Amino acid sequence: MKLVLATSNKGKVKEIKALCEEYEVIPYSELMEEFEIIEDADTFKGNALIKARAVFKALNDKNIVVMADDSGISVDVLEGAPGIYSARYAGAGASDKDNLQQLMNAIKNKGVKSSPAFYTAAIAIVTDNTERSVHGWMYGTALSERKGEGGFGYDPMFVPEGYDKTLGELPDEIKKKLSHRSKALSLAKKILKAL
Ligand code: IMP
Repeated sequence: MKLVLATSNKGKVKEIKALCEEYEVIPYSELMEEFEIIEDADTFKGNALIKARAVFKALNDKNIVVMADDSGISVDVLEGAPGIYSARYAGAGASDKDNLQQLMNAIKNKGVKSSPAFYTAAIAIVTDNTERSVHGWMYGTALSERKGEGGFGYDPMFVPEGYDKTLGELPDEIKKKLSHRSKALSLAKKILKAL
C-alpha cells in the first residue's frame, strides 16, 4: 500500500518511515509541488485532518491513502503552551531552532529551570471513502536549557519520564519506543490493516 504523508518535515518523515517499514511511505512533496495548507483548527486532530484532506484532494487519486501528523509540546508552567502553536511559537516561518530557544526562554522567564510537559501527536488517515484519526502522548519534563543534538524540534530540551537525559542525548531507538508519534502510529497501523 502506498502511504502518502501530508508533511515534508524531515524529522517527522524520518520517524514515520522508521515506524512504518512495512509500507511504501512517500512524502507528498515527492509527488507534487509543496503548497501552503492553512492549519486553522483549534485541535491537533482538526489540523491533522485539514492537512490530510488537502493533500488527498490535491493529488486527485482515489487509490492513495494519505496520512498526516499534527503534533506539538505542551508545558505545564506555560499553561499548556505552545500546544497546537508549536510550529510557530517564535512567529510565522520560525525555524525549529528559533522555537526551541523561545520555549527555553519562556520557561526561564517563569523563574524555573524545568516544568512537567508532554508531547501530543494526532494522526489523520484520509482515503476515498473514510476519514479516521488517532492520538498518542509522551510525558516528561521540559528544561530551560538544551542538551544533545539528536531528534528534532524540541527534543534537546525534553526529558522523557523514567529517563535522566533529553531526547537530544538518548538514542533514536528509545524515542522510537516511547514517543507520542509511535503510540499514535501503532493505532494508525491497525486502521491501515483494516482498510
Ligand atoms: P506541525 O508540523 O504543524 O505538526 O508542527 C509540529 C511542531 O511541534 C514543530 O515545531 C515540531 O518541531 C514540534 N514537534 C512535533 N513532534 C515533535 C517531536 O517528536 N520532537 C520535537 N518536536 C516535535
